[in-house]
Amino acid sequence: MELVTLKTFDQYFSAHILSARLEDAGIQVYLLDEHTVTIDPILTNAIGGIKLAVAKEDEQAARELLGLYEEEARGRSHCPNCGGHQFLLLPARKPGNILLALFTWIFSGFAVAGKQLYRCQDCGFESELMPVDAKPAENN
Ligand SMILES: [Zn+2]
Repeated sequence: MELVTLKTFDQYFSAHILSARLEDAGIQVYLLDEHTVTIDPILTNAIGGIKLAVAKEDEQAARELLGLYEEEARGRSHCPNCGGHQFLLLPARKPGNILLALFTWIFSGFAVAGKQLYRCQDCGFESELMPVDAKPAENN
């Protein structure tokens, strides 16, 4: 069976959320290199991240669904600073900045490679993760 990689991830939780949703929609998903990235985040760049792949015959349907999910995520995004909903995905210019350090600390159990940032178009707030309507501190 031929597999097609649709998306790559630095963080396994994003990969899992999307793959679970695709599987709910009846599409068999293959997460490649998941365990390497999770066990050793340093290797993420070397092997190109976690790859979300589907069978060639599911590619079209999967791409359409991913597009829908991304639009939906944008609609739910919510700037914690100003409440704005417009975010741009940008390459991180300063991987050593304080915000990234904070996110790395908060999500220290996860692989944070810091290659991209979401920036609020209204106030400039930057976040490594799309700031969806958050439920602060509930996960601790
Ligand atoms: Zn904002």
